Amino acid sequence: MLSLMPIQVLETLAEMRALPKRRPRAVVMTMGALHDGHRALLQSARKWSGVDGELVVTVFVNPLQFAAGEDLDRYPRTWQQDLEMCEQEGVTAVFAPRVDDMFSVGRDITLDPGPLGEILEGKARPDHFAGVLTVVAKFINLTNADAAVFGEKDYQQLALINRMVQQLEIPIEILSVPTIRDADGLALSSRNQYLTPQERQAAAVLPAALSAAVEVAATGGGAEDAVVAAEKELTANELVVPDYVVVTDPLLGPAPEHGDARILIAAAVGGTRLLDNAALHLETR
Ligand code: AMP
Repeated sequence: MLSLMPIQVLETLAEMRALPKRRPRAVVMTMGALHDGHRALLQSARKWSGVDGELVVTVFVNPLQFAAGEDLDRYPRTWQQDLEMCEQEGVTAVFAPRVDDMFSVGRDITLDPGPLGEILEGKARPDHFAGVLTVVAKFINLTNADAAVFGEKDYQQLALINRMVQQLEIPIEILSVPTIRDADGLALSSRNQYLTPQERQAAAVLPAALSAAVEVAATGGGAEDAVVAAEKELTANELVVPDYVVVTDPLLGPAPEHGDARILIAAAVGGTRLLDNAALHLETR
């Protein structure tokens, strides 16, 4: 049985700091517009903290991770539905601070993600990961959580958060959850709402590209062959403009000759940037 305590909505940093911690506490950080991918994170966090444990969800569209001209102003906001999902999943408290409260003490100190923040998404969005890490670190401190759960959907973000926590000795356990997908394989994302019906259909080439690469790797192809197979699928639909298709090792270093690897892709569908990734096992000998 989950606790019958009503969900607490915390709107200020002072309220968050004042929330007494009586049991192990897990946190799930989101930008709202919650979908079943977020739900999987909530369930994993609840499993970690236990039926009597505490589960805090942050809802904050972080302006530091958006560049000028990106979708900050039109990012979907579905507060009532978000709250309903949190209630269904037995969330203890939802922390949804206002931007001015979050940064009332200033925002000139930021975290430098290092070289791993300059490749892939970091290349396309130069200050993105500095903004992500700064706010993730701030939420770790504010929520005083013992564990935090992130999605593999944002694989580079997950890798950077793991690195940050390790290198800065931040006392928190990081857990991850595999990507939750729609029936046709498209990774769930709040940004899928931007797609027209035609674009939504076209977007299915992203998971198809990953599947093609996984297949090639499993049947003896190398990293390059996997990339070629994925690119072929991605370019099959004219509404899809690939940005990158890259195979790396699981920590985003150079692709191995054989063994565990990761394929990461980004593509624009209409005006919407979509990301996806998958584990590969390179069976080359
Ligand atoms: P966002 O609200 O998009 O910032 O995402 C909040 C968290 O949910 C991040 O850890 C994401 O990686 C995770 N997430 C987003 N989409 C999915 C998905 N389809 N499956 C699993 N986790 C996801």
